[in-house]
Parts: sequence; C-alpha cells; structure tokens
Amino acid sequence: FTGRDLQQLNTMSFDAILIADTLSAPIVVRENSTVYDAILTLFTEDVGTIFVVSEDNFLEGALSRKDLLKAAMGGKNNNDLPVNIIMTRMPKIILTTPEESVLSAAQKLLYHQVDALPVVKIIKEGETTKYQVVGRFTKTNITRLFVQLAEK
Ligand code: ADP
Repeated sequence: FTGRDLQQLNTMSFDAILIADTLSAPIVVRENSTVYDAILTLFTEDVGTIFVVSEDNFLEGALSRKDLLKAAMGGKNNNDLPVNIIMTRMPKIILTTPEESVLSAAQKLLYHQVDALPVVKIIKEGETTKYQVVGRFTKTNITRLFVQLAEK
C-alpha cells in the first residue's frame, strides 16, 4: 500500500462493525483433553488456535499451532499430556466480546501479537467473573471483512 491508498480506506466503517457481525464458531477442547486430541482438532476443524474450556464450558486457556508443535517435538509421550500443561492460561488470555468494534479487536491482535481472540460472554457470579466462549475472531475474519468492504 502507498500512503494514498491507505487514506482512501474508509476506517470509519471498520469502527462501526461489531464482533457480533463477523465472528466465527468457537473451536474448543476440554482442559483434560490430550495434546494428541488437540492436534486432531486443529486438523479436523481447520483452525490455527484452539480455546480450552472447563467442564462447565468456561474459558481456561489457549493453544496455538506452535504450542502444539513444541509439545509434539518434545517426544511421543507428550501426546498423552493434558493440554492444560502446555496452554497459555487465564488471566493471560486476550479476549473480545460481541459488543466490541472490529477495529478495537484488530488492534488487540496486532498489539498482543496473537492470531485469534476468543469471543466471550462475561458472567459475574458474586466475586468471581467467568467467561463463556461464544465465538472466535481471527485474522481470517479481518481479511474477509476487508475484501467485503473493498468489493462493495
Ligand atoms: P503461534 O504461536 O502459532 O505463532 P500465536 O501467535 O497466536 O500463534 O500465539 C502465540 C502465543 O500466544 C502462544 O503461546 C499462544 O498460546 C498464545 N495465545 C494465542 N492466542 C492468545 C490470546 N487470545 N491471548 C493470549 N495468548 C494467546
């Protein structure tokens, strides 16, 4: 892109579009799933990032391609490890919500250098806050939106 092309992009429309308009289905595994299960899910669901949830479906962690590659390189026995040993865990997970703007979520992806954000519904139970995973937002969603905006 030249500077002039960038100026021609209507960033206002990115700002007006919400995560609820563009999110994809969440792909999750349970925290007691094995590394092997997670790698299978990566292939069958054709995703780059898997989110890890508790028995009652609340967000616990994230697994990237490289997390799983690293675990697999550690040897055959690593395939049987539960994913909660290798995942990035809460509260370190960067989240988005259906109400957030796509622009703001895209800035999170860039700033935190991750490929995907879980889309969550925030549930407050007294002192504790839980996050129900309702979708995923990835660089693919942004690419799709970019093409749709450019073609319109
Ligand atoms: P890769 O590691 O395959 O390049 P990412 O750049 O998305 O993929 O992930 C980098 C690291 O950040 C990984 O260790 C992963 O567990 C973690 N991660 C992935 N998504 C998130 C997220 N939404 N919030 C916090 N950490 C994440």
